[in-house]
Amino acid sequence: MKPFAYVKLADVDAAVHAVAAGSGAKFLGGGTNLVDLMREGIEHPDTVVDVTGLPLDEVDELPGGGLRIGALVRNSALAADRRVRAGYPVLSQAILAGASAQLRNMATVGGNLLQRTRCRYFYDQAAACNKREPGAGCDALDGFTRSHAILGVSESCIAAHPSDMCVALAALDAVVEVRSVRGTRRIPLADFHLLPGDTPQVETALEADELITAVELPAAPFAARSRYRKVRDRASYAFALVSVAAALEVRDGAVAQVRLALGGVAAKPWRAHEAERLLLGGPATEEAFGRAADAELAAATVRPGNAFKVGLARATITATLRDLSTEEETA
Ligand code: SF4
Repeated sequence: MKPFAYVKLADVDAAVHAVAAGSGAKFLGGGTNLVDLMREGIEHPDTVVDVTGLPLDEVDELPGGGLRIGALVRNSALAADRRVRAGYPVLSQAILAGASAQLRNMATVGGNLLQRTRCRYFYDQAAACNKREPGAGCDALDGFTRSHAILGVSESCIAAHPSDMCVALAALDAVVEVRSVRGTRRIPLADFHLLPGDTPQVETALEADELITAVELPAAPFAARSRYRKVRDRASYAFALVSVAAALEVRDGAVAQVRLALGGVAAKPWRAHEAERLLLGGPATEEAFGRAADAELAAATVRPGNAFKVGLARATITATLRDLSTEEETA
């Protein structure tokens, strides 16, 4: 590992000034991804600014409803929060579906937003990877693509986003608050992660000197009936092949509210706008759920190794919405 300077600060302003002062500085939260990447020689900051002492570890209720989640709230604490479990169960379920208990105890909300792809070629220094080395090429295109994306891909990169938590946040219309020496700004989660295009090395809308300070969940009463379903190669401690975060409200047999996001299929949490558009106001039936899934997945670009994801995503969307609609009927 390349030598680096380490500082730990207890004040947000001091932390953002410390990173702004050096072009090679990085914020360190739980370290569950950054430290791995530093060990692999993929990330090599000159200075690491440890932010775990900052006062950003509370979950607070917003005046008009909704929650403000500090960026340093540990994933395990957020999943266990009674307000999250009751009002946004999809978020609690998504977090508990990710990683291991030990990692969830360390990982922060801010760090989870910034975790990088687990594409095996990205981690293999002997492989060509446009994300690690822009212009180098992409060995995944003709390689082993079982875990790779099918939506929003480019000829530069087909990596998938690894987070479960972010899929739920996408469905819940979360907003990310960030701070730098220039002030505070708010970024809708839908705009926070970027598709690869010609610049797969640019993964988020975050500037290098910006610190994530909080994530806000708007009030969403219908989200009390929401669910996260994850399909993976083994029952625990594995990334999603496909996942679905969904919230559904049915009135008189018709879809009154629906939120749908997919994981494991794109470089960002994939909000299924087309499926939502088709579902809203229509019948809450399995046939309608399947048609909406088909419409959302019509734009998929597949390779021999990941073509199965289209059918898997359709089945997972349909099953998740069916379960939620059945809960509605029996509630
Ligand atoms: Fe790199 Fe993306 Fe290709 Fe993976 S898919 S090797 S991350 S460019």
